[in-house]
Amino acid sequence: MKNTLLASAALLCVVFSSAAGERGIFGLYGDTPDAKHAWAVHDFNRPYPKQVETPPGKPPSDAIVLFDGTQKSVDENWCDRKGNPTKWRVKDGLFVCTPGSGLACTRRAFGDAQFHVEWLSPVADAKKHGQLGGNSGVIPMGRYEIQILNSYDPDPSADVERNYPDGIAASVYAQNPPLVNASRPAGMWQTYDIIFHQPIWKDGKVLHPGTVTVLHNGVLVQDAWELEGMATHRVRIPLRQHAAKLPWMLQDHGDPVPFRNIWIREIPSRWDNTTHSEMSAKEEDVRALREQTAAALFAKIDVKVPDTKNVNGILEVLSYSKKPEYLKAAQSLCAGYDAWLKTLPPDKLAANKRYIDGTLKGFNVLIRNKVIGANDYPLRATLEHFSKQK
Ligand code: MG
Repeated sequence: MKNTLLASAALLCVVFSSAAGERGIFGLYGDTPDAKHAWAVHDFNRPYPKQVETPPGKPPSDAIVLFDGTQKSVDENWCDRKGNPTKWRVKDGLFVCTPGSGLACTRRAFGDAQFHVEWLSPVADAKKHGQLGGNSGVIPMGRYEIQILNSYDPDPSADVERNYPDGIAASVYAQNPPLVNASRPAGMWQTYDIIFHQPIWKDGKVLHPGTVTVLHNGVLVQDAWELEGMATHRVRIPLRQHAAKLPWMLQDHGDPVPFRNIWIREIPSRWDNTTHSEMSAKEEDVRALREQTAAALFAKIDVKVPDTKNVNGILEVLSYSKKPEYLKAAQSLCAGYDAWLKTLPPDKLAANKRYIDGTLKGFNVLIRNKVIGANDYPLRATLEHFSKQK
């Protein structure tokens, strides 16, 4: 009698469904982690990105606001090259270049970043072309220039003095003209959204030259342009290694160019991703993260209860790691589940077919990815048998 009661109690623990079990069914169906990828395809265990608030017309919530129309934001964020207060002035809520005062430099140093700025070519410069019309520039890390210039040019046949193409607005100065000229006429506000990745160095040599992408008034004008050198005039100066973070600058080229709404977001280098990337993953880092994930998932499994949740759970663990402890638990759980399934009447099996199919899919993902062999677990044949029944 006592043995019967114990057996019944054990059977009560064996169930098809639970919230976690349902997720387990759907959680293991993409290709499994490999030497370069710590996460499966469509991996629910992969961390979700942080939510960023994007109120219309305002900087995103994770931006560092460098100028918001106030003197306070200038005092906090801008200086000259020596760290002294900048002589650029705040006028009518705008940050205006004071000609002859030199570069405006961010007090904080930044490396890879997304940078937003709004600028305007003064109307007084509307007739000027060449280097004379509202010249300034955004200078990421003080090394590379995205040109600012009055460059609106709707009539290619007009006889006007133009600057060289690699020096008009939105050019990577002295390197690459914009893909199209998205300039607005003088007197109209314009926007730059710049995505900048600095060069990557290894043992003193360029591993990757870095890229700059620019949207000018919302139009893509620099498409991940690979940097070829430092910002220069007339000559080519190759890339030179520099600190990982440096001040960003706005150029004083002698014109009173006004700016507004300046913000920056620090962004990771793709080369920092050492756990999930064909290009930059380090296999030891991938292995370590896979083991960490496997251990966290294994801690949620009761190896004594061979139910849907625990069987799906151990299959998921195996996709990250095949430590002997996990393989042993998998054999035990699958054998117990197999035995239990075979005790069930056809109506109960039919009613729970989706769970049977789900676990079978999990097995098939592991087999497809050569994590396990097709015949390593007799449970799979049982699942396949019941799955084919109507
Ligand atoms: Mg310039």
